[in-house]
Amino acid sequence: MFDDDKIWSSTQLPSLPAVAVRLLELSRDPETEISQIVALIKTDPAISARILKATNSAFFSFRSRVTSIDRAVPLLGSTVVTSLALSFSLAESSIATGPMQTFFRDYWRQSIVHAVAGETLGKRCEKGLDCEFFLAGLMVDIGRLAMLKAISREYYPVLITATSQERQLFEVELEFLGIDHAMVGYKLMHDWGLPDAILRGVRLQHFTLETLQEELDPEQDMLEAAMVLSNAVGDYFLSSTPGVAIQRIRDLARQFFNMDNAETDTFLKEVRTRVDQAADLFAVDMSDIQDPTELMSLANQQLLELTMRARSETIQASEREKQIEREKKMLESKNLELEKRATHDKLTGVFNRGYFDDAIKASIKESCERSCPAAVIFADIDKFKTLNDTYGHKFGDEVLQQFADVVQGSLRSADILCRYGGEEFVIIVYRPSEKGLEKLAERIRQNVEQMQVHYEGKRVPVTSSFGCAIALPGRGELNCTEQLLLKADEALYEAKESGRNRVCHRNLMDPADRQLLKAVNQNKFSRWLVTKEILDIPTISRILLQVPPDQRCLGLLAVHHKILKTAEVDNLVEIQSENQYRRFGDLAVEHGFLTNDQLYLILSWQIEPPDRVMNSMVANNLFSAERCQELYEQYLRETVPAEFIPA
Ligand code: GH3
Ligand code: MG
Ligand code: MG
Repeated sequence: MFDDDKIWSSTQLPSLPAVAVRLLELSRDPETEISQIVALIKTDPAISARILKATNSAFFSFRSRVTSIDRAVPLLGSTVVTSLALSFSLAESSIATGPMQTFFRDYWRQSIVHAVAGETLGKRCEKGLDCEFFLAGLMVDIGRLAMLKAISREYYPVLITATSQERQLFEVELEFLGIDHAMVGYKLMHDWGLPDAILRGVRLQHFTLETLQEELDPEQDMLEAAMVLSNAVGDYFLSSTPGVAIQRIRDLARQFFNMDNAETDTFLKEVRTRVDQAADLFAVDMSDIQDPTELMSLANQQLLELTMRARSETIQASEREKQIEREKKMLESKNLELEKRATHDKLTGVFNRGYFDDAIKASIKESCERSCPAAVIFADIDKFKTLNDTYGHKFGDEVLQQFADVVQGSLRSADILCRYGGEEFVIIVYRPSEKGLEKLAERIRQNVEQMQVHYEGKRVPVTSSFGCAIALPGRGELNCTEQLLLKADEALYEAKESGRNRVCHRNLMDPADRQLLKAVNQNKFSRWLVTKEILDIPTISRILLQVPPDQRCLGLLAVHHKILKTAEVDNLVEIQSENQYRRFGDLAVEHGFLTNDQLYLILSWQIEPPDRVMNSMVANNLFSAERCQELYEQYLRETVPAEFIPA
């Protein structure tokens, strides 16, 4: 990496002539008398001669001819004299031979443009500011001179690249060297002890408009703003990137000098005219600088290209984004695939045993919360071993696949089909009823029986046997899952024993369970809405999907509805702890804390909280909140005994 110490240790760094150093010191001191400046200038005959010549040049256009330095200095003022002294020394520094010659010349020409642009802006701002602004403009790019002198070998490829690739010089400097001429200029001038405002202008010259807006106050920091804008004007007239420059000029002029585009164009023309006068004074040839109108069309062309390039970069970026999106999708589908492999049976595509073990627990839990039955169906292909033995294992596999398809096709989407092992399958039935379960199992049996399985063109009959079990799991019943599976297996065994191709049932619900389910159902708000034909079954089913049960235990709910007191619940919890696996509700009834009717009511509100049903109806725009409340009150009056209605 480039070490910028190389710049600072160089003996080639531009230095200020003794007179200029002294002039800068004097101009910083408000006590300085003009006579002191005259005396100082007179110590350097070469500078004296040049200042005198300059005073009479077209650049200043004084009316009468000035013949002595005593008259010239008061006429010009200390700032102009300092500027001139500095300019002459910089001009001298910029004289070079060899391959770097044109770059020195470019630097100096551009510095003249900077100075003139500064002067022009100074004039616009306030009378008398022009000289100071001229000096400031002159200094903007001094870092370039320092780099040309101190590190010409390293700087050469930077300059070539910036020109040939039409890139901004400071960007290429940063890329190649890690430092740009703004930084170099700032440090150099800091060492020279130049005023802070000029240092700031140098440092900020390449900053973005946004940063400048933050850093500069248009009311106070006019000199800094003028330096930044002058720098852009120099780029506009003399760099290979007039397109970028014109955009920046317009932005800066609008932001800091309140100039619209027309005013900015006039300003650029003024600068161009003034540049010619300055060229004479500083002995540089500016005749090849393009006319502002021609330059404008070149700049606009460049701007257009820049916009197109930016657009094509956006397109490329969006292409990359799409690619990333594709890769993401691929990963996601791979993950899905992996997940599927973990939960699905490879041969048949239905869920596997591992998935079943989790799903059955979840299903029992849901049944507990909703006080609705849970059911499973075991299904086993009849004499499958014989099929395998007769037609081969491959045929057996095909039968398994077809069997799984037929069973799956006979189910509702919420039912869960799993391969339990070998040719045995199990179905977790979603929200079953006793009748519904019987019908479902029978339908599957028939569908399997009618299955079209062929071996070498001949139909092979396939049948299967089914064992169903249904139960109403109570809260806190730990072994319900085991019981349910055991009973379903028993039923399957019975189906096999009694001749196969049939369905056998085990019902774990007792008459009390059935009575409970029926009574609870009758108490539900949703059922009342259907009986009254206020809503039809499909609508209420949709509504109920959005109604979660109340997770609170019965005791708490009874307290909430003011049917039991907290002390009574505590008492019952005590009783329950001595009677493990007994349901809270049953014990409450047995011990006279609740009537059956009260129990059914609380259960129905636990499974289906009426306020949640109302919320869901309002949310689905079925009724207004007021209408819901009316319906609810009517339901209470018609369904719930007056003494149960909570206050
Ligand atoms: P039953 O009517 O009493 O159920 O008689 P079965 O022959 O169907 O029952 P058994 O349990 O005696 O035989 C099951 C056979 O299923 C034995 C085993 O080789 C076969 N089997 C298990 N898994 C697969 C499989 O993935 N592919 C194939 N082709 N056969 C399988
Ligand atoms: Mg079998
Ligand atoms: Mg078997």
